[in-house]
Amino acid sequence: MTQLLLGFLFAILIAFGAYRAHSLSKSGAWGALLEGTIIFGLGGWQWAVLLLAFFISSTALTRLFGQKKAALNEKFDKGGVRDIGQVLANGGIAALFAGLHFFFPAALWTWMAFAASLAAVNADTWATELGVLNPTEPRLITRLRRQVERGTSGGISVYGTLAAAGGAAFIALLAILVMPSLHIPFSSLLPYYFILVTLSGLTGALFDSLLGATVQAIYHCPQCDKETEKHPLHTCGTQTVQIRGWKWLNNDLVNLACATVGAVIGLSL
Ligand SMILES: [Zn+2]
Repeated sequence: MTQLLLGFLFAILIAFGAYRAHSLSKSGAWGALLEGTIIFGLGGWQWAVLLLAFFISSTALTRLFGQKKAALNEKFDKGGVRDIGQVLANGGIAALFAGLHFFFPAALWTWMAFAASLAAVNADTWATELGVLNPTEPRLITRLRRQVERGTSGGISVYGTLAAAGGAAFIALLAILVMPSLHIPFSSLLPYYFILVTLSGLTGALFDSLLGATVQAIYHCPQCDKETEKHPLHTCGTQTVQIRGWKWLNNDLVNLACATVGAVIGLSL
């Protein structure tokens, strides 16, 4: 009960701070409070380290490259302020495994799936933020010969893929550095765990791109004549028209799929 209460208080601090810093919307702060309470309160400090590493590094990258991306922003579903949909899509699966840890306190798989899920969303975020710096236009993951505009869903690049690998490896490194002490006797396996979490994260991020290139709902703004993930209204206020993908598969669900694939691959490996 003490840990849950401390987790709740810590989550309030983080959610409120992020809201004040305009990194989270009001709904996003509520989502972060829920997720934070589960992860800090039922997981523990090691779990908090990984969640904060994801949250702080992705927020910092969004801020650092915000100007560079401002011109492309209409291509992306949402700006720098994350709402509850984004918060739950990115951290919901991680919170699920932190919750499962409460019921299986001696298990290693909860930690591995938790880390792999965060590695996937971290890889995806780093790739999105750093991929725009690639000197040439990205290529569609399903048709590598075809160059597409920067910010197009499903577009990949060398910088973006390296950033994804870096983002996954960053979480994987922390995952073995702060691994709950219960599992440390198996320390000869740590390099293997590091590779496993990195690969899971990278695969999750690539799956995200694959969905973006194939079945994610993509719209067109007739006013700006631009492809966009925004619906029903574009940044200019004009109603967007769907041009491809499944109507229900929005950006949040694609991120949720990224987190899920990371966790499932982490579990199965
Ligand atoms: Zn428009």
